[in-house]
Amino acid sequence: MINQPTENPSDEKSSGFTKPCGGILSEMTFPEARDFHPQVVVLAVTSTEPHGPHLPYGTDFFIGDEIVRRSVEKACSLGGAVLMYPSLPIGNNVNFKAFPFSCRIRVRTLMNVLLDIFAALEEDGIRKIVLVNSHGGNSSTLSATLREHYESKPEGAPDKAFVCCVGPTSFASKEIRQRVTHASDHAGEGETSLIMHLRPDLVRAEALADFPRNYAVLEELRPPSSVEFIRPWHRYIPESAGGETRASSAENGRLIVESAVENFASFLVRLGEAEFYPGFPYAKPE
Ligand SMILES: [Zn+2]
Repeated sequence: MINQPTENPSDEKSSGFTKPCGGILSEMTFPEARDFHPQVVVLAVTSTEPHGPHLPYGTDFFIGDEIVRRSVEKACSLGGAVLMYPSLPIGNNVNFKAFPFSCRIRVRTLMNVLLDIFAALEEDGIRKIVLVNSHGGNSSTLSATLREHYESKPEGAPDKAFVCCVGPTSFASKEIRQRVTHASDHAGEGETSLIMHLRPDLVRAEALADFPRNYAVLEELRPPSSVEFIRPWHRYIPESAGGETRASSAENGRLIVESAVENFASFLVRLGEAEFYPGFPYAKPE
């Protein structure tokens, strides 16, 4: 069942509340949550860790949390039944530990936290869960968690949710993402532009620079190598940011966020409307 928030303002009448459905769990009352029947739950998995001298520790959190918030609000305004779960502010950061207060939990801890959340949502009747990962250090853990969850119940189990994972700007158009001209693994032009738009009060513009990157002694281990290893970031990017950031702009950040939110919200609405059955998202078994 899809909620039609603008046509169902019963709570609005009784309380004077003017925002009948934002889809943001942390802002809902008990009756609002009880009467809301979301078809999709979205959870930002983020991180709090250093981002050079120009960006705040909360960069990944602000990006994931705010893009999810705007996308869920947009999806609900389009008639979607989508719920934003509280964003996780701490992720995997073992390679950042040489820097102070690089908040981190272990790989297995993050996996267990997510598996517990999936189980709670399944008990709440949710069958479609979307993770939005705004921190590169979480990526391989989230892939492994999706596999572990998939394995936890037999195929066809009616209480087994479909779980998927995307990046916060993955849904932005390629053309708009290409407006960022200097690639970076961390705290570069892309993230700086996003924070210039989302939290301009927290950008230290005077500190923008071309932040140094040290490369591995073997050619085969340098980007864009496909050889995978854990990079100690104090050796790779000693200022906790890497690459040229002086071309960053709030305008590019705005365009990327708006494109991402529009396309992601559309996906969430259609994901919510899609009929769920064991075997989803493939064609319904005859
Ligand atoms: Zn970041």
